[in-house]
Amino acid sequence: MDILRKQRDYFFTQQTKDVSFRKRTLKRLQKEIISREDDICDALYKDFKKPKFETLAAETQFVLAELKQALKHIYVWARPERKTATLMNWPSSDWIYKEPYGAVLIIAPWNYPFQLAIAPLIGAITAGNTVVLKPSEATPNTAAIISEIISAVFEPEHVAVIEGGVDVSQELLAQKWDYIFFTGSTKVGQIVYESAAKHLTPVTLELGGKNPCIVDQTASISLSAKRIVWGKFLNAGQTCIATDYILVHKDVKAKLIEALIQNITRCYGEHIETSQDFSRTVNQGHYQRLKDMLEGEEILFGGQTNDEDNYLSPTLVNEPTLDSKLMYGEIFGPILPIIAYESENDIRKHIMNYGKPLATYVFSNRKKFQEKIINTYSFGGGAINDTVIQITNKKLPFGGVGSSGIGAYHGKTSFDIFSHHKAIIKKANWMDAPLRYPPYNLPMKFVKKVKHLF
Ligand code: NAD
Repeated sequence: MDILRKQRDYFFTQQTKDVSFRKRTLKRLQKEIISREDDICDALYKDFKKPKFETLAAETQFVLAELKQALKHIYVWARPERKTATLMNWPSSDWIYKEPYGAVLIIAPWNYPFQLAIAPLIGAITAGNTVVLKPSEATPNTAAIISEIISAVFEPEHVAVIEGGVDVSQELLAQKWDYIFFTGSTKVGQIVYESAAKHLTPVTLELGGKNPCIVDQTASISLSAKRIVWGKFLNAGQTCIATDYILVHKDVKAKLIEALIQNITRCYGEHIETSQDFSRTVNQGHYQRLKDMLEGEEILFGGQTNDEDNYLSPTLVNEPTLDSKLMYGEIFGPILPIIAYESENDIRKHIMNYGKPLATYVFSNRKKFQEKIINTYSFGGGAINDTVIQITNKKLPFGGVGSSGIGAYHGKTSFDIFSHHKAIIKKANWMDAPLRYPPYNLPMKFVKKVKHLF
């Protein structure tokens, strides 16, 4: 592939290893994003009527915060890090060098189409790599503006955008990359992992999952409902860390349902279809998939659709069974199943029915119960008495575990995943202890104590 060959040649010029060069390009990217912020909002609105507020908060300002942090810390992150030397190697100085991998491939999804393309790109560039970025074909207006921004800021041998669908993605994956960063579904994540394995290419896989939200009998119900509704119906439920289903203690179920309905109406009004604050399902395929999931289910609230516009209103579903379409895999849309539990065993039965989720939420005023859920179950990350907000702190790594992903990023973690940490010991020449060299004359009694020198 021509672009990959060009990027490899460019990487070998050592240009991207110059930290001041990286900083200059990051600044240009920052300037370009700021100047195109309104165009980016328009593109996302055209793609799936994403409200401007959500695009600013969760896409452009989010990546600008990543940029700000990278610009502030790049010199400290990139410089060799000194570690305490061991007695074994004395006299020496011991270091970790941060080495860019080289040619990076980033494949992005459609649900936060700007943020999920640009945030990993920032990490890759800050760490000194070249990048080929493939945005999602499902959001063509955003893909086009990403392409414009990147070509205005970078030479293609440094960063290039290649637009296209599955065929383009597969062609890219057939090449040998030095690192692949993929965000998308678990199913496609497996394909990416297989392709990477052929070349032993390291990967970060940011995948999906079926995220439980547990509400116990001590939870502050009206506040819990407010926070659940916000995190679930933001982006019309098309958020990888949105609540997928609620497990609520049977004693507070009725009260919670009432509070959820009140909050949906408070947020989006009586006529949700006309609300400027509610996105559409991204395309016909996903819209139909969601409609099919509702077949035969007991709808407690919502369920309104408009085929012309891929509109599905915020919908609450009562007690779907574990073998229903709704509970088979990730919902990824504005449908919220509500399931009552009686015992902690019921919680276990549901959570353990799926692979490890990307997020888990607990609403409870019992600290012991909160800690028990955190420590019992494996999941990417989560929140106590809130939803989604774990993504907003750049000091926290963001990523899945098991079927919800491999690796994490954001802030310094992004810099670290796109850097090989190269261990270097710089040995002094003024002294050379003879102990390690054959013939081995050291008494075994002494060798058995060598662990103290490591
Ligand atoms: P997707 O897996 O269908 O597509 C993601 C990317 O992969 C797209 O660019 C697409 O062109 C490409 N692709 C699709 N099929 C492919 C194939 N067979 N071979 C090679 N490439 C292929 O995902 P999506 O529908 O765009 O996004 C939704 C999914 O992403 C959800 O499962 C969601 O949970 C997950 N997601 C995860 C995160 C996270 O940070 N963990 C963030 C957003 C979305």
